[in-house]
Amino acid sequence: MTNIAIDGPAGAGKSTIAKKVSKELSFIYVDTGAMYRAMALYLHRNGIPADDAEKIAAACGGAEISIEYRDGEQVVLLGGENVNPYLRTSEVSAMASKSSAVPQVRTRLVQLQQELAAAQNVVMDGRDIGTVVLPNAQVKIYLTASVEVRARRRFLEMQEKGENADFDRIAADIAERDHRDMTREVSPLRQADDAVLVDTSDMTIDQVTQRILEIVRDRTGLN
Ligand code: C5P
Repeated sequence: MTNIAIDGPAGAGKSTIAKKVSKELSFIYVDTGAMYRAMALYLHRNGIPADDAEKIAAACGGAEISIEYRDGEQVVLLGGENVNPYLRTSEVSAMASKSSAVPQVRTRLVQLQQELAAAQNVVMDGRDIGTVVLPNAQVKIYLTASVEVRARRRFLEMQEKGENADFDRIAADIAERDHRDMTREVSPLRQADDAVLVDTSDMTIDQVTQRILEIVRDRTGLN
């Protein structure tokens, strides 16, 4: 199987790019953040406090998370229910950022991710894909952009949807999530030694996609 790992901080454009690259290559796209979000939704629904690591560790075993592909889209199932529509709320984002630091949560989801990658060609994005989940991936990309640029992208996205957006608040949230992802004890976000760094601050989505396809061709000989 050919495995492509894309890691990087929140808002670097990982999912947009990973989707495009996977389409070009006819690979399956695996969004691991959505799995951590589904776990967070489960914990939230069960009234587990985001700051109580012990309760999270004890409760996470009850979450039945699986993945299906419907019309090429990843659908996350929680106990058989399609929970995709509930994964992007601010409560779930905040809970995911905290609960993903709990080792028991990671062990379960990493196993599911490794099973998916062993069975098919995947483009998988997350924080620890190149370092922990798929250390033998043929291609590893570390996708990043400045906090300022990532906050502006998110701000415009929210404005387009007619949501209330506060740029300073968004930038502060992003900086805080970066800090948590990079300093946590288990599987912190970091660039794998053999990953290629792509800074998307001054690049368009198409440019980034082309750059990554170039790297994939270089490393795998795929067309
Ligand atoms: O990428 P996304 O924002 O959807 O990720 C949701 C949360 O899951 C993040 O806060 C991140 O800390 C966590 N995550 C992780 N490991 C991954 C993917 C996401 O810890 N492989």
